[in-house]
Amino acid sequence: MRTLLIAGNWKMNGSKALLDAFASAFAPPALADRVEVAMIVPFPYLDAARRAFESTPLKLGAQTLNPEASGAHTGEVSASMLGECGVTYVLVGHSERRALYGETDADVLARAKTALENDLTPILCVGETLEEREAGRTMDVVLAQVEAVLSPLAPTARQRLVIAYEPVWAIGTGRTATPEQAQEVMAGIRGYLARLDTTLAEGMVLLYGGSMNAGNAAELLAKPDIDGGLVGGASLKTDDFLAICQSA
Ligand code: PGA
Repeated sequence: MRTLLIAGNWKMNGSKALLDAFASAFAPPALADRVEVAMIVPFPYLDAARRAFESTPLKLGAQTLNPEASGAHTGEVSASMLGECGVTYVLVGHSERRALYGETDADVLARAKTALENDLTPILCVGETLEEREAGRTMDVVLAQVEAVLSPLAPTARQRLVIAYEPVWAIGTGRTATPEQAQEVMAGIRGYLARLDTTLAEGMVLLYGGSMNAGNAAELLAKPDIDGGLVGGASLKTDDFLAICQSA
């Protein structure tokens, strides 16, 4: 059975006080054994988060990384720095990075490779825009984004990825994909993986993201190909986020 993963993506939100609130809310025994929870916080909070979460089951995630090892990249952060801060997960290809910062599939692949080389688990984010969905191109767009990263990787590296399906039209809009819509696309992703390797497909943790909240999480997570969530807005409130984790 696949482990369930709920990852809270704070984006450019939160505070040190909120880290402490999460540390209290997630003090044991907050979670069931088969649920893993990661908090993906802004860079300046990573070190404080590691300390705050020490006696909780919360794992740490970062929102991006630079694919280079070091050098003249003002404002950027390397994979080894993230490792030193106790980071386990790193988002690659979040739609906000693609849309606002021009990250291409090639950039996303470079980041995923660097993450893997540094023992970080990349959470590869993929998803279609509303325009692409309405043009009937959802599956083509999503599978092209998955393929761009998976096909150049060695089979052993592919197994170490997590994939998050996040329809762009559902992110931060309050307009969640229905469980059926999410399941359809995620079954399509798992089908693509099965054509590469059935063991890969069976083991791959697939997350849904896009306006997941305490009210809709249980229904989404009940679907066979949804193994967890990537949660933005609702990961900024301890009660809501804990409720999502407990409904998994
Ligand atoms: P949302 O964000 O839950 O606020 O829609 C999800 C995400 O962007 O990861």
